[in-house]
Amino acid sequence: PALLDMAAIRAQFPILGQRVRGRPLAYLDSAASTQKPTAVIDAMADYYRGQHANIHRGAYQLSQMATRLYEEARERVARFLNAADPVECIFTRGTTESINLVAASWGAANLSPGDEIILSVLEHHSNIVPWQMIAQRTGARIRVIPINDEGELQLDAYHRLLSPRTRIVAVNHVSNALGTINPVAEMVVAAHAVGAVVLVDGAQWVAHGHTDVQSLDADFYAFSGHKLYGPTGIGVLYGKRALLEAMPPYQGGGDMIERVTFVETTYAGLPNRFEAGTPHIAGAVGLSAAIEWIEEIGLEAIAAHEDRLLVYATDRLSAIRGLDIKGQARRKAAVISWVAVDPPIATLDMGVQLDLEGICVRTGHHCCQPLMDRLGVASTARASFGLYNTFDEVDRLATALTAIFERARDRSPAGPDPDGVS
Ligand code: PMP
Repeated sequence: PALLDMAAIRAQFPILGQRVRGRPLAYLDSAASTQKPTAVIDAMADYYRGQHANIHRGAYQLSQMATRLYEEARERVARFLNAADPVECIFTRGTTESINLVAASWGAANLSPGDEIILSVLEHHSNIVPWQMIAQRTGARIRVIPINDEGELQLDAYHRLLSPRTRIVAVNHVSNALGTINPVAEMVVAAHAVGAVVLVDGAQWVAHGHTDVQSLDADFYAFSGHKLYGPTGIGVLYGKRALLEAMPPYQGGGDMIERVTFVETTYAGLPNRFEAGTPHIAGAVGLSAAIEWIEEIGLEAIAAHEDRLLVYATDRLSAIRGLDIKGQARRKAAVISWVAVDPPIATLDMGVQLDLEGICVRTGHHCCQPLMDRLGVASTARASFGLYNTFDEVDRLATALTAIFERARDRSPAGPDPDGVS
């Protein structure tokens, strides 16, 4: 794939030009949320300036235009995911709402006492808690796929967990805390062999590689617009048509009905039946612009750039004595997570000191407390990359971290490093 023109790309992200604490901003937190290119910002501003009205049922031209933009966004999402039909793409607030929709609606209709839901240790809380809530209501049980010390799912254990009691497997495509890319295609085949359906949490994948829900054969696929260079407040739930059509509504309200009386209400077809109320129309417009923009640059070129950054960052951070990288899976995407073991430095402290240099990383449990428990740490510090990040930013991170470790060593009770080679 072609090398990215970094100057041209960065020029399209107004936020990246600013200085923080007198230093150029080094934004290394794209796994939490990506920044937005002007193409997205302008598309949303243009929509509000000249095209906004509520969608559906408007007799007038402006409403029809807004409806068309909203439905064109759905078509673009469908092409992006290679969904068979745009009605299989439901707009939600984000990954969290997409998973809650499936857990509440599909779960209520399909789970009974003794049924099993398979999750993994790598899951984000948003792919754990909704399942616990529906398990409590239905009497279903949660089983958990373990990981090895590199942060990879243990597939032999997964195969042993699968049984005729398995109703659904819900796993992330990429771990937000460690960056592990999971072998979801293989996992789907195995789940289908026992008659289970699969939900893939694609929040951390879609910005880093092609997604083809048909070749993956995923039953449900969820992602958030804001991690894909699009706006917050909009996301997608892809679901196979037959599954979605058989599911009861999630929320009730306007726009999701066919006919309402006080005796009985009948529901609209897909996708409206799962989109109660006025949706985030400008969000859909912005997401559509983000997808168009990414496709112009090319996901292969983006992934190749991020892989080079990840290899470089892994080399640089591995060279810092006392720094322990968590999760060295063979296949990783755009995330590097670490802790300071010698001397021990609180991850929050590292984050605060990096911030003084204008470097943004995330510290904490990354909404993955069960994973932190498995790793035996309370938290990690995490740098994550987007297409706008540079080797220079990785150098700044490594240099700043080296200095943080040196200062901590000087302060540690043992005094300065006896070898003098920190
Ligand atoms: N799953 C994963 C793997 C994530 O990284 C995130 C966001 N950190 C989510 C789910 C939740 O996404 P959102 O907050 O956009 O709903």
